[in-house]
Amino acid sequence: MEIDCAKTLSVWTDTFKVSEFDSLKENMEADVCIVGAGISGITCAYLLAAAGKKVIVLDDGIIGGGETGNTTAHITSVIDDRFSRMEKIHGKEGAQIASQSQRAAVYEIEKIIKKENILCDFKKVDGYLFFGADDTLFIDEHEAAMRVGMEVEISNSPLKSFRDHNTLKFSGQAQFHVLKYISALADAIVRMNGKIFTGTFVNSIDDNKENVIIKTRSGFCVNTHDAVIATNSPVSDYLAIHKAVRIQDLCHRI
Ligand SMILES: Cc1cc2nc3c(=O)[nH]c(=O)nc-3n(C[C@H](O)[C@H](O)[C@H](O)COP(=O)(O)OP(=O)(O)OC[C@H]3O[C@@H](n4cnc5c(N)ncnc54)[C@H](O)[C@@H]3O)c2cc1C
Repeated sequence: MEIDCAKTLSVWTDTFKVSEFDSLKENMEADVCIVGAGISGITCAYLLAAAGKKVIVLDDGIIGGGETGNTTAHITSVIDDRFSRMEKIHGKEGAQIASQSQRAAVYEIEKIIKKENILCDFKKVDGYLFFGADDTLFIDEHEAAMRVGMEVEISNSPLKSFRDHNTLKFSGQAQFHVLKYISALADAIVRMNGKIFTGTFVNSIDDNKENVIIKTRSGFCVNTHDAVIATNSPVSDYLAIHKAVRIQDLCHRI
């Protein structure tokens, strides 16, 4: 399968061919144009199409060809930055909101899979978080995770090689085949009259208050009421958040 300049082949990209779509070949109009067909953009487009919006999704590669295709695909409510850290930065309420949002996302994915009857190897599993043997953060994290409402307990490691490590076991986690999932969502978007165009690089986003013009490198544009930029790395000029060079672009130049 063709993937975006990845140096490694993930188990997902190696075992499944996602649905294919044409590139944008004419000017079009939409209620919402979503740039980026990873899990964020496709989920957003699916939910908006289900709410009756006329959506158009644009991606310069294939669907799931960005970071999504290279994920480990743990559907987890355990935040990488740790709940104890969230509490320090955002207070107890902030950490609780973050935790609720993560759990809602896990629930939403499960709900969509059931509703659309998606065969994507979805499975509820326990998640294990390993700490160093002398890592005191382990206790703080256990307490903070309980405070924000996570189902968590101190556990033995299920892996022999991690037996010496302090371990937290989180219930209510899941795993799935991410490309089977977003491919089915993309098909559902099209069934709901949404449109997806791949191989379509967006090179400018002009917001003139009444509408947004999304221009592509091929010269065609989408005139849309609203736009969602789900490109993982920012591509708009509105805020100079960071100056990231997309790996794909870098690879094209080399
Ligand atoms: C090794 C690894 C393991 C991970 N494991 C997990 C995990 O277990 N669980 C978890 O929840 N998260 C995990 N993540 C993080 C997760 O993969 C990402 O947060 C998620 O995939 C991001 O999805 P996205 O849709 O926002 O971005 P992407 O999947 O990167 O999608 C962005 C899309 O935008 C397109 N695009 C960009 N610029 C343009 C442009 N100018 N014009 C048109 N299209 C454009 C790209 O082609 C791409 O398809 C992991 C990440 C990595 C790298």
